[in-house]
Amino acid sequence: MSDCIFCKIASGEIPASLVARTDRLVAFRDVSPQAPMHVLVIPTEHTASLEEVKDGQLLGEMLLLARQIARDEKIAADGYRIVLNTNRNGGQTVFHLHLHLLGGRRLTWPPG
Ligand code: 5GP
Ligand code: ZN
Repeated sequence: MSDCIFCKIASGEIPASLVARTDRLVAFRDVSPQAPMHVLVIPTEHTASLEEVKDGQLLGEMLLLARQIARDEKIAADGYRIVLNTNRNGGQTVFHLHLHLLGGRRLTWPPG
């Protein structure tokens, strides 16, 4: 997708603070962090939202990479949250599939 900001981050066309890369995924720090640690995990191949996903294994890989990052950054024992906003009512603003990994502080519940 030529005008997708996350495709451009995945390809290196737009800079981002990269945390991890696998053959199918990229993880980078959110430009507007909502917690001391706020990382986004995306597939390199463009997919608009969870509603478009056909490959369940891809979702598993995204979750396991987020868990690995939480462990590597030493927030796993204290705890963290994974969020996947979907479409307008879910609060999705960038229409390239991504999950949020948030941690480093006590997060509140319920979300707004
Ligand atoms: P959504 O609201 O779609 O679930 O989350 C999109 C996230 O992408 C937001 O948290 C926003 O701060 C982040 N974001 C938007 N544009 C950029 C960007 O250019 N670089 C980075 N690193 N994060 C971005
Ligand atoms: Zn994209």
